[in-house]
Amino acid sequence: MERDIEKILLTQEQIQNRIRELGEILTAEYADKNPVIVGVLKGVVVFYADMVRQIQVPCQMDFMWLSSYGGVNSTGKMVVRQDVTADIAGRHVLILEDIYDTGNSLTYTVAHLKAKNPASLKICTLLDKPERRKPGVTLKADYVGFTIPNAFVVGYGLDYNEQYRNLPFIGILKPEVYEK
Ligand code: 5GP
Ligand code: MG
Repeated sequence: MERDIEKILLTQEQIQNRIRELGEILTAEYADKNPVIVGVLKGVVVFYADMVRQIQVPCQMDFMWLSSYGGVNSTGKMVVRQDVTADIAGRHVLILEDIYDTGNSLTYTVAHLKAKNPASLKICTLLDKPERRKPGVTLKADYVGFTIPNAFVVGYGLDYNEQYRNLPFIGILKPEVYEK
């Protein structure tokens, strides 16, 4: 697995340090709000598990599972495979995402959840790749772990063809892995 990695972009330690910093901010932000923390599956699972443990307030966990991404390029077509189970009307909702790339999936997720009339809706993404944003996507992530360059990354929940999610760090995949 590790021999397919060209370069480690973010080490376990860098990721954990940043999550602790975000945790302090989010703990202050959501004190007394009992937020519903919505993870967007599947890429977020590893980040979600670490992040929620640093948000030290009463909260509810929920998940949405969208489908669209095949291989390296986002198709732009979204399907809700699994919706949130909580009734989020009037609730403070925090979306956790693995990566904000073209913006297709976050735009879709935000519209989908907004339609349920939450009291507030904020976005926390571990990674942001602004260079990849599709023209016209104006959404801003409220909290960003790391802004990264335009490269295809795997690990820490992020996959290539469902592989590499269990790498403990975030690395850039060797292009020959997906070019072959
Ligand atoms: P979007 O293009 O809609 O902003 O991103 C949709 C999804 O594509 C992300 O949630 C993530 O699952 C996947 N994705 C985007 N960029 C990368 C990347 O560099 N590596 C991996 N493994 N997945 C990515
Ligand atoms: Mg995702």
